[in-house]
Amino acid sequence: MAVYNFGSINWDHVFTVPHLVRTGETLSSLGYQVFLGGKGANQSVALAKAGADVHHIGALKQSDPALEHLTSLGVCTSGIEQLDIATGQAMIQVMPDGDNAIVLSPGANHRNHLSWLERQLANAESDDWLLLQNETNLIEAAANKGQQHSMKVAFNPAPMDKDKVHRLLSLLDLLIINQIELTDLTGTEDLENALQQLHHQAPSLAILVTLGSRGALYQSTTERVSTQGFRVQAVDTTGAGDTFIGYFIAALDNGLTPSTALSQASAAAAISVTQHGAMDAIPNADEVHYFMDNY
Ligand code: AMP
Repeated sequence: MAVYNFGSINWDHVFTVPHLVRTGETLSSLGYQVFLGGKGANQSVALAKAGADVHHIGALKQSDPALEHLTSLGVCTSGIEQLDIATGQAMIQVMPDGDNAIVLSPGANHRNHLSWLERQLANAESDDWLLLQNETNLIEAAANKGQQHSMKVAFNPAPMDKDKVHRLLSLLDLLIINQIELTDLTGTEDLENALQQLHHQAPSLAILVTLGSRGALYQSTTERVSTQGFRVQAVDTTGAGDTFIGYFIAALDNGLTPSTALSQASAAAAISVTQHGAMDAIPNADEVHYFMDNY
């Protein structure tokens, strides 16, 4: 089975700064690095590293080297439209204690064309996955298309837009959400209460809640499974959720049980937090199996 991931692609410009820049100030950074990122691209790379047949759908500036980069990491990039519009760019200020501030220009990520999206999904088969995050335009159209093709539609509502999630719930098979987003969505910090509310609204929806260092929980109409996660020395949790999501969907797509998928995803995410960066910190499947065998 294939996984179609309709998602964002960004260049992340990371400036290490002594403090966040103030009004009227010109601040010299202590360091500067550029990384390929965006939740969509990160999740596609996690899917590819986990061994899934992943087709990224999205948009970027024509001839952007990001295309080549994603291809080299095992992502099928023929569904990425090349436009005469800048690729998404994020300017990230990071202070030595890790606190950050981000300015985002979504660029091409918000200029996807419906006709292009429809063409990319035309060959999708029933039971292929369609994965969505909230960093592109056309999310609802994509979810509708996915449902029409009898695909399994998964949505990671980041960044959170409550109204959009409520509109989408009936089109989804799986909602993948972290605890902060879940509280934001349901207005309660009580996990059971939040799950009940969502079950009430969308009885057939499966929900995967990631709980940071405390692991994750998956609930469907037929089962509930959870993992406590793996204890590691975390240095940078950026991209942990994206790693988790890619590995979880890849495992389900590979016919593994939700319980095994949870274990593999939390092992992959645990490895990722022991390294700096997001996309660069995503482990490959061999590393994940080695880690699980030796934990
Ligand atoms: P989050 O988006 O913070 O819920 O994190 C996603 C997943 O990454 C979690 O479900 C864990 O599997 C993993 N993770 C995040 N933070 C840590 C940590 N400090 N130690 C181990 N695993 C982590």
